[in-house]
Amino acid sequence: EISSIKTVNPFNNEVVKEFKAMSEEQVAKIIDDADEAFKTWKNTSVKDRAEIMHKVSAIMLERKVDLGKLATLEMGKVLGQAIGEVKISAAIFEYYATNAEKLLADQPIEVPDGDAFLTYEPIGVILSVQPWNFPFYQMTRSAAAHITAGNTMVLKHASNVPQCAQMMEDIFKEAGLPEGVYTNLYVSGKDIAPIVANPKIKAVTLTGSKPAGASIAEAAAKVVKKSTLELGGSDPFIVLEDADVQLAVDTAVNGRMANGGQVCTSPKRIIVAGKIYDEFLAKTKEAFAKIVVGDPMEKGTTLGPLSSEKAAEDVAAQIKKAAEQGANIVLGGKRMERAGAFLEPTFITDITPKMDMYFEEVFGPVFMLYRYETIEDALEIANGTEFGLGGTVFGTDTKKAAEVARKIDSGMIYINHATGVAPQLPFGGTKNSGYGREQGKEGLLEFVNTKLIRTT
Ligand code: NDP
Repeated sequence: EISSIKTVNPFNNEVVKEFKAMSEEQVAKIIDDADEAFKTWKNTSVKDRAEIMHKVSAIMLERKVDLGKLATLEMGKVLGQAIGEVKISAAIFEYYATNAEKLLADQPIEVPDGDAFLTYEPIGVILSVQPWNFPFYQMTRSAAAHITAGNTMVLKHASNVPQCAQMMEDIFKEAGLPEGVYTNLYVSGKDIAPIVANPKIKAVTLTGSKPAGASIAEAAAKVVKKSTLELGGSDPFIVLEDADVQLAVDTAVNGRMANGGQVCTSPKRIIVAGKIYDEFLAKTKEAFAKIVVGDPMEKGTTLGPLSSEKAAEDVAAQIKKAAEQGANIVLGGKRMERAGAFLEPTFITDITPKMDMYFEEVFGPVFMLYRYETIEDALEIANGTEFGLGGTVFGTDTKKAAEVARKIDSGMIYINHATGVAPQLPFGGTKNSGYGREQGKEGLLEFVNTKLIRTT
């Protein structure tokens, strides 16, 4: 059988390197080793664990250009953004290295007599399934937290970024992480669910699509294991009439085009007050004129190819359908006439609930502009999908903007800023965007046993 695990450069669709999928026996052996490693790792002090995380962070920063180039090669993101991704990943390792002792310290609880406290104990081998859109960051937020908490990890990365996965395993080794504490599983996504049932796997976390998430959550529920899921979104970006229009346009267009539009929290639906709509639309066209499509390795390029030929075809099909259903394609909308997984930066208006696109996540450089007359209309559009991950509200009166933010069904809302990422801020969603949190204290404590000890 030909393995689906390979590096294909989406800039020209050339196959660079193929990997052999692991056998069931190899996978079982890796999980045995991770379980064995847990026996020592859980008793290693948080301070000693943190020491290794400091080193991981330092090595990543030292090699940020090499790592960035690998991400660009495997999934097509613009090199400058890939290097930025490596830096934020290093910052997350550093955050847990610096703060884990404090965050994992016993927590006293006030009781009328005697003592009570909570202690946070690691639970064992965590299975982590991660996507390709941020090959270093996505695996980092899962590995940095759970390994620092004392768990061990087997990680199944997306089939199109095997070299990024390999690079991280090598970096962990070089930083002194004991054998078995972190190991990659090279298997296809469709073969993951049965692995969840292995008794040595204690919990599972996935970032990716809803079908993939549902499949591993179902497998976990059957054997009473905890899962966390981050399943993407169709984030609203509400622009109130008192907003700084130029800043809102630049934030929305740059946010939407970043990473080829393949970001779970990218501003996918821009919802603009009627009073400023025409100005916003005109300025959006101007901003589109500045997008530079090209080789993601080259300086100056702002939009590269999508992650794969299939990804580009899928998004092109979504656009075609929306046009057939009556949406107005203002700019772009087609595959580009050049090699590679390229799609024109696309600007669409007049999307209504009669169209599939109104409800779908569009994972590509597609800017969808909506118009609202009352704030109730804006909220109806914002809350009108199955998703609830991030979101933005733009407005000069930030108190008023925060009031609007409270009414959006979402895990994270940013005021006057695209949905962002910082090591100390919990990241995750509600509704069909999944459950659980990554990063921050909340992320660190997802896979620990919060044990009560009570003395009377
Ligand atoms: P997938 O959900 O298919 O891939 C994400 C990860 O899950 C990969 O490691 C994949 O492995 C694995 N996987 C796939 N199927 C299963 C399964 N049945 N059980 C367990 N694991 C599985 O995403 P795609 O890459 O196909 O992207 C499709 C859509 O998913 C996007 O258009 C977007 O909407 C959403 N998505 C959201 C992301 C986010 O950041 N929240 C990130 C990526 C995608 P393998 O590569 O071997 O198939």
